Order: sequence, then C-alpha cells, then structure tokens
Amino acid sequence: MAESVELPSRLGILPFRNKVLLPGAIIRIRCTSPSSVKLVEQELWQREEKGLIGILPVRDAAETTTAIGPVLSQDVGSDSSERSSRVHVGASDSHRLDVKNQQENMHWHTRGVAARALHLSRGVEKPSGRVTYIVVLEGLCRFSVQELSTRGTYYTARISPLEMTKAEMEQVGQDPDFMTLSRQFKAAATELISVLEQKQKTEGRTKVLLETVPVHKLADIFVASFEISFEEQLSMLDSVDLKVRLSKATELVDRHLQSIRVAEKITQKVEGQLSKSQKEFLLRQQMRAIKEELGDNDDDEDDVAALERKMQSAGMPSNIWKHAQRELRRLKKMQPQQPGYNSSRVYLELLADLPWQKASEEHELDLKAAKEHLDSDHYGLVKVKQRIIEYLAVRKLKPDARGPVLCFVGPPGVGKTSLALSIAAALGRKFIRISLGGVKDEADIRGHRRTYIGSMPGRLIDGLKRVAVCNPVMLLDEIDKTGSDVRGDPASALLEVLDPEQNNAFNDHYLNVPFDLSKVVFVATANRLQPIPPPLLDRMEVIELPGYTPEEKLKIAMRHLIPRVLEQHGLSSELLQIPEAMVKHVIQRYTREAGVRNLERSLAALARAAAVRVAEQEQAVPLSKDVHRLASPLLENRLADGGEVEMEVIPMAVNNHEISSAFRIASPLVVDEAMLEKVLGPPRFDDREAAERVATPGVSVGLVWTAFGGEVQFVEATATVGKGELHLTGQLGDVIKESAQIALTWVRARATDLKLAASEGISLLEGRDVHIHFPAGAVPKDGPSAGVTLVTALVSLFSQKRMRADTAMTGEMTLRGLVLPVGGVKDKILAAHRCGVKRVILPERNLKDLVEVPTEVLANMEILLAKQMEDVLEQAFEGGCPWRQHSKL
Ligand code: ADP
Repeated sequence: MAESVELPSRLGILPFRNKVLLPGAIIRIRCTSPSSVKLVEQELWQREEKGLIGILPVRDAAETTTAIGPVLSQDVGSDSSERSSRVHVGASDSHRLDVKNQQENMHWHTRGVAARALHLSRGVEKPSGRVTYIVVLEGLCRFSVQELSTRGTYYTARISPLEMTKAEMEQVGQDPDFMTLSRQFKAAATELISVLEQKQKTEGRTKVLLETVPVHKLADIFVASFEISFEEQLSMLDSVDLKVRLSKATELVDRHLQSIRVAEKITQKVEGQLSKSQKEFLLRQQMRAIKEELGDNDDDEDDVAALERKMQSAGMPSNIWKHAQRELRRLKKMQPQQPGYNSSRVYLELLADLPWQKASEEHELDLKAAKEHLDSDHYGLVKVKQRIIEYLAVRKLKPDARGPVLCFVGPPGVGKTSLALSIAAALGRKFIRISLGGVKDEADIRGHRRTYIGSMPGRLIDGLKRVAVCNPVMLLDEIDKTGSDVRGDPASALLEVLDPEQNNAFNDHYLNVPFDLSKVVFVATANRLQPIPPPLLDRMEVIELPGYTPEEKLKIAMRHLIPRVLEQHGLSSELLQIPEAMVKHVIQRYTREAGVRNLERSLAALARAAAVRVAEQEQAVPLSKDVHRLASPLLENRLADGGEVEMEVIPMAVNNHEISSAFRIASPLVVDEAMLEKVLGPPRFDDREAAERVATPGVSVGLVWTAFGGEVQFVEATATVGKGELHLTGQLGDVIKESAQIALTWVRARATDLKLAASEGISLLEGRDVHIHFPAGAVPKDGPSAGVTLVTALVSLFSQKRMRADTAMTGEMTLRGLVLPVGGVKDKILAAHRCGVKRVILPERNLKDLVEVPTEVLANMEILLAKQMEDVLEQAFEGGCPWRQHSKL
C-alpha cells in the first residue's frame, strides 16, 4: 500500500460506469473497447516508469434524475484524434461533469481515484487481431477533476489532489472528535473482523491491518469490501473530510455486521431443519450398512425388490400386471419420506397379496362324508341339512354352476354360522366371515377411492386378502342389518357381488382394477327376511332355521355343546359332569332363547368354574420347576425298601389333558342346583311368571316375533278418569298404535253386547281414559299381530275378569272383529312352549303353519283356532267369554 503518492497534474481517465474504485481497493478489469485499450496502452503499458490513471465514476443518463453542473458535449465513441473540448467544472463537491453526445448521456462525477496497475497482461484475439488488456488496479488517492478533455480516443483530466498533507493530518489527529470517531470505527472494525474470522475459522491475519494502516485509509479499505449501492459508494468517495469519512464508514461497518448476524440466524435455522433430514439420511445409511453386515436385507430398496418379486408371483392377469408395474415404477422414483410413498406401497402390497389365482385345491366332493360331517356337527335340522347336501350335489355335478346363494335366516345361535363352516369343510375350502351388521356406507363394501386420506379396500377385498385364496366360502353375515343412507346403498353393491353375471369383474374403488369373485362360494345369514331389499333377496335361496325346542336344545347340549365346552377348557367328563336335569334347568330357568348361544355360554361358565377347582387341586400336589413328583406304587415300594428316591420326569409342555390325567381327581365334579346358583346366579325365569302377571284384570298374554325369534309379550291396560282418550306407551310403531285404536273402538262398539257398559251401573268407557302399555318399554315394537291381545286386555279390564294364565295368543283383528292370519307362527309357538304356555290361540287361517312345528311341541300344547274375535275371548277366559257369564246371571 502506497503511503503517499505524487500525483501528476493531468491523468488519463478510465470511466467506471455505475461503479466506484475507492483508495485501498484492488480490482481486476478487462479492457476491450478501443478507447480503454488505447488508454491502458499509452498510459500504463508503454510507460517506462509505473504509470497512473484516474478512475472516474460515470452514471448512465437514465439513472440521473437531476443532473447538476456543466455538460460536456463530446463524441465519446469516435476515434477523432486530439480533438479537445473542454468543460469547466464548478468548485462545489456535488457538481458533476456531464458529457453528452447523440447516442448517450454520460454524467461524470467530479471526483475520482488515482490508480496504479499491479498487474498487466496483453492479449490478441484471433482471428480478428483485436488487442485486449487485463489490468489489476489498486486505488491510491482521491482527486478532483478541474477540466476534462479528450486525447485521441480516451479522456484526460486536469486534476488536483484531495488528500490532506502530513501537517494537516497531524492537526486532525489531535481533534478529540476525530479521536472518538476513530475509536468507534476501530471497535466496529475489530468486531467485524472477529465475526468474519470466526465464520471462516481463520485467525489473526486481518487484525494486523488494524494496527498497521492509518485509520482514514482503513475506512476506505473496509467500505470497498462491502457490497453497497452506487450512491453510497459515491458518497464515500466524496467524503474528503476525515471525520465524515470515519462516521460513514462506522455506519456501514455496523450495518454489515448486523446483516451478517441476521444471515447467520437464518442459516442456523435452515441448518437446523436440514440437519434433521440429513441426520435421518445418515442414520438410514448407517442402518443399511449394519443390516448389510448382518445379512439382513429388509431395507427399503430390498423391500421394493421383494415387493416386486411378490407381485411377479401373485399371478395377476396381464392388464392388471401392467397397471401394477406402472404404479411400481412410480414408487421406485419416490423417496421413502415423500408423501404418497407409503400409500402407493400399501396399495402395491395389496395387489401382490390378493389371491388372483391362488385357490384351495378342490378335491373330489364326497357327499357321504359331507353328510356325516354335517350330522356330526349339528343335531336335528334335517331339512336344512338335506338342502345343503342337494346344494353340494349340484356343485359336484357342475362345479361352475351358478347356483343360488344360500341364505340362512333365523334367530341368533341356531347354527347359521356353523352350518356355513360345515359347507366350507365339505367343499375343502377356506372359510371367511364378513360381518355386514351395521354397514351403512357403500364404501364399506366397495372401498374408498385412493384419493381419500386413510382410504382402504372394502370388506370383501380385505377378506379375500386375509383368506389368501380366490375360492373360499365367504359368509356374508347379517345381510339384513345393512342399511342405506346418504353414504350410498351397500345393498346395491352386494347385488353386484351376488350376481353371477357381474361378479367376475367386481370393482372395488380402492383397488381400481376388476377382481374376479366368481369362484367364491357365497353364503349369507340374516335374522329376519323383512329388512332384506327384495332384489337382494331375489338372488338368494332362503333356508329358515326357526329355533329349537327345549328337547332339541337338551340334545344339542348333551351331544355337541358339553363335549366341545369341556374340550375348550381342558376338562373331560371325568373331571366335570353336567347331568341332563341340570341342563334342562339351565334351558328353562336361565336361557329363554330360540337358539343355543346363551346355553353354550352358561355351560362355558360352569366349565370355567370347574377348571378353577381342578387347577386348585392340582396345585395341592407339589411341583418343582420342571419336574413333577409322582406318587406311584413303584415309588412307594422302593421307598419302603429304603432305596433311592426316583423321579418320573414329565416335560412342562404336556397339555392340559395330560396334566389332568396325571393328577386324576378321585371323583368328578357333578354340577348340581347349588353350583348352578353359585355360578349362574339365581334363576332368571320361572314358569309362574305368566300366572303372576295376569293375576290382575287388564293384562293379556300375546306372542310376538322379533329378531331373536318368537317371544311372549304381555299387554297391560288400565283406565283412569278422563275424557275417553287412549294413551299408548312402550315404544310402539304406527301399525301397533292403529291396532290399539281398532281394539278400543271394537270394544266400545261391542260394550253392550259384551255387557261391559252396564257393569256396576256406571259406564266403564264413558269419561275414562284408557292407557295401554307394552312392557319391556325400551324395546321397539310394531306389527299388526297384537290386535287380538289388545282386545283381550281391554275386555279383561272392563269386565274385571282375569285372563287364563296358561294361554297366549296372536292374531290381527279387523274393525269388524275378524281374526286375520299372522307370520312367524312356528317361532311364536316355540316361544310359548319355552315359557311353559299350554294353550295358544291362533287365527284359523294359520292352521297350515302348524306342520312346521315339531310334533313333540304340539303334543304338549293345545292349539285353539279363532275365526272371529269372539272366538278368542271365548278361549281366553276361564269358563268362556265374560258376557256369557253376565248373561247367565
Ligand atoms: P348363528 O350363526 O345362527 O348365530 P352359530 O352358528 O354361531 O349361530 O351357533 C352358535 C353355537 O351353537 C355354535 O357353537 C354352534 O355350533 C351351536 N349350534 C347351533 N345349532 C346347533 C345344532 N343344531 N347342533 C349342534 N350345535 C349347534
């Protein structure tokens, strides 16, 4: 760095467009224009001694808003020789030199910086032969332009130096303001240097500058290294006054510091985020390396390769294979962290897992074996089993026959599911149960489109994936429990599933490619027929399982349920015995149901209780960790002989049976009434219920039909003082409400005939409100078959006569008193039988339905047929209808 420079009075001028060279700054430029090449050649290259040139900032005319000062008209671009035009410059610092020509307006700054070349290199371009220079320039000191002229193609200027003399410098150095300013500047500069050094992890070298270079030069050097606007550069150049220069430089250094800090903060933040994903990446790399080392190949890439292999062996049809490959290519292009990667993968996994061709091997169907299997698993159900055998026979003769779908209809626990299981076993196929209860959304059957978040395939496709063969027996359980709402109609999707014409290309929305369901054997179950939409019902062949009589239940329990329950609990008949009498007891007192599910549960509860006792007794025998000491005659003999104690070793893996036989309990546990009460609690039903409930007039016993089979339903009626209104309670539907209205009207109309109006001299009907209640108020009820029961309750109320406790009834009644037939007769009679009812009043036209009722039930029961309401009343009351009694009086 030059200490002091002797400036000549005239300098060749190199204009710097919109840029300033400050003293102390070093810059590398390439000169290509003829004027600058000439300037460098003449003022620097050809000089013996080291030459100087002046760098003068110029501003584009477009950039100037207010051009102050004289304007020099000059043809800058021309090569006219020694043409000299002059311009006189005003004394003011802010004045600018403006050189104007036709092509461009150039506004010259009045102050510049003298510069010397630190390095010069000359080049000749081929093939044009044009000469260019590359010059490294160092800014030395400021000057002001007195007069600007041209020499040949370049400018020269008459100049005067602007830097202070030594004496002036010394004087300023004493100025306290200057001293403060220079201290401030140095502090800022030191901080900046340390920040930069910290960033670049270098030390010490820049700090030397602070000690060796005078502060006013330092100010220029620092500012020259910042990226600041042209205006700011100009104002720094114009700061001839040292104090002004220092304060400006301090301000700029401070600003630079701040911007560094802000930038640092931002990078730290970004780095924080970056480093998280980088860390993840690194960890993954490491994990991969570890897995490779361990020979464990399930990392992502291998996973995709494995997936591809799985897809290849899935046996997809060619069009689906193409689709899958497209999706796989997409997956391969994605990063595992990318959104959509997972969903795409899960989708492909599904495609690979689905049994496109994989099927259970179908063996020759042996009808005899199938029949034996059905018989050994199910008691009774002769007709049902016969129908199943027929169904299987047709399949045997014509395996691809598009026979109807079997639909087992009946109350819970009657063996619908286990029959379907037997079909699967007979066909030698896998079994899958799809529960449709409560399905209201079509998407449950058909799946959601993959555009939805959390989308998944429908239950059918999901079931097929789980069962992993394309020809399973698929049980569509509780098909009557699907309902339609705004989310679509699941039944219509099921229609497609069950239609042999359509189901070879079932379209699941998630899967989005057709799947062939035609090899699946569908079997459906339902509790009731009514809710099944007719088109769906049309596709199925209904087989009804009405429920069991107590005798049947007893047989089922003794032959099937008890052995199964014992086996499930690791017991045998040597450990637990449930006598027939006790099973009967359970059937009558604890479970009044059409099926045998609760019966099975109760038996299981007994088995659990017995298992606890057996286990307790086992514990009484000392057991070491892995050997059991056993008392055996052999052992005792040896002990008696004084020999060594021997042990028989039984491995711990022996199953319950072996353990229990190893510790045989002297006598089996026999279930008695006390145990029943202890395990199952007090009896829930007894035969006296009906008698107790009809002990007061105004109660009648009806038979109704529900999803759980037939049931006994009491109807209670009472009258209070009022306006003759009818109140109904017990969650009744519209039909049953109307029946009540009809019943009341009929009783009112017949009041005189029935001798009700004259009772006790006052009218029982006039001025009285009637309230009818159906107990079990929480259960919704509807249907017309309560008609006769309602009338009987009203007649009983107004005649103050009790209905017979051993009688129950069902039947719809017209306004004129005709008794119309009703449905579910078999279930209703079975329910009456279960409840110990001995007499059942039925509409005459239901006579034909009695053939379905097991004969053993009918043998114990009196069936009374009614054509008109009067017939019902005749049978419902002890000694006939009340009016007859009145008439007798
Ligand atoms: P559902 O599907 O009709 O509700 P399940 O098929 O689940 O009833 O039957 C309930 C239980 O009762 C099963 O353990 C089943 O084996 C048994 N079960 C029902 N009916 C019979 C029968 N006739 N013979 C033997 N076991 C039966």
